[in-house]
Amino acid sequence: MGQGQEAAAAPPVLAFPRGGRRAPPPPPDLLLSPPHLAGGEMASLQATLDSGWLAPAGPTVAAFEAALAEATGFPHVLALASGTAALHLGYRCLGVAPGDEVWTSTLTFVATIGPAVQMGALPRFLDVCPESWTLDPALLERELARAARRGRLPRAVVPVDLFGQCSDLDAIRGACDRWGVPVLSDSAAALGATQRGRHAGRGARLASFSFNGNKIVTAGGGGALATEDAALATRARMLAAQAKEPAAHYQHETTGYNYGMSSVLAAIGLAQLPALAARVAARRAVFERYVQGLGDLPGLRFMPEPAWGRSSRWLSVALIDPRRARTDREAVRRALAAAGIESRPVWKPLHLQPAFRRAPHAGGAVAARLFEQGLCLPSGSAMTPEQQRRVIAAIRDCFRA
Ligand SMILES: *Cc1c(COP(=O)(O)O)cnc(C)c1O
Repeated sequence: MGQGQEAAAAPPVLAFPRGGRRAPPPPPDLLLSPPHLAGGEMASLQATLDSGWLAPAGPTVAAFEAALAEATGFPHVLALASGTAALHLGYRCLGVAPGDEVWTSTLTFVATIGPAVQMGALPRFLDVCPESWTLDPALLERELARAARRGRLPRAVVPVDLFGQCSDLDAIRGACDRWGVPVLSDSAAALGATQRGRHAGRGARLASFSFNGNKIVTAGGGGALATEDAALATRARMLAAQAKEPAAHYQHETTGYNYGMSSVLAAIGLAQLPALAARVAARRAVFERYVQGLGDLPGLRFMPEPAWGRSSRWLSVALIDPRRARTDREAVRRALAAAGIESRPVWKPLHLQPAFRRAPHAGGAVAARLFEQGLCLPSGSAMTPEQQRRVIAAIRDCFRA
């Protein structure tokens, strides 16, 4: 409410950015994935402040890492400054160097590949499969065999757990192990999701997670890198803290990063984590209510869930087929925006991004269609059924028009 008043009082130059032909829609009051407080954050912050530890080390960070290890089943977890930092550190640990190829799913957020590109790696984007919208293991297998024949295997393969849905890590591992290619799973948005009974990312050499404000549990920013490999974890920890060798004076064989998570953020994450199972249940209930409320509309479908996985449904995603519906994804998005409801197209595939114009790709038609038709709907775990009815009614209106 206070936010609305502030927006109304904003100077016209902010309210009408460029051209001014059409007034922009009001700022949404119903957001895609706002943070959901657990209640214990203040007490946890106070306890951390009282402990005197504010550094990216100490008892709160250690407790958060232990809680994450418990939640994921990974024996080694490092709490880091962001999910993007976790990916960067992961690439460094896998020895990514200029000229190396790094392969990932084309249907992902740019942060998946950004750090590798900045390290001089050459990205290659692979299509997703229609059953899960995640990296297509059969395509990966064929492409790896071809790459092996060319004598140019990728340094790493990076499957992405999309909108809370795990990739088929067993199949991806099967394809990669044959050629000794390590797997780094971008599980940023899949905390609480499972694949074949194991937590997201388990089975990969490394997995990265994010605690950004929009994720299913948040630390107000932050990330984690997880592994089953003790030696890899030790090296990652050393690199994350400026690559200090064990010596009383500062001794360095290489350079590292300042990537540890602040104790202040870890305190928030620590208070949020016990609610994870409840948050997954709430997001899955949101998805079910969308299916109940919209499932009868012609030309509208939802993101499928393969038999081998249980998605956290971090975001609920609808597909709108303009040939069968009397509307399309963009018209629905605009109608929702006009009603103060935030929604967002599915990731624009990276092989279609100008930044990667020259990067090679294998397939991409499945991802391109998901981008054209896919809309991420408000999915917050604190969204009330009444608020969700507003979203459902606004979408139904588009299909009547
Ligand atoms: C959120 C996200 C990231 C980045 O995490 P940050 O903590 O925001 O740096 C990376 N990949 C995917 C798929 C994400 O959803």
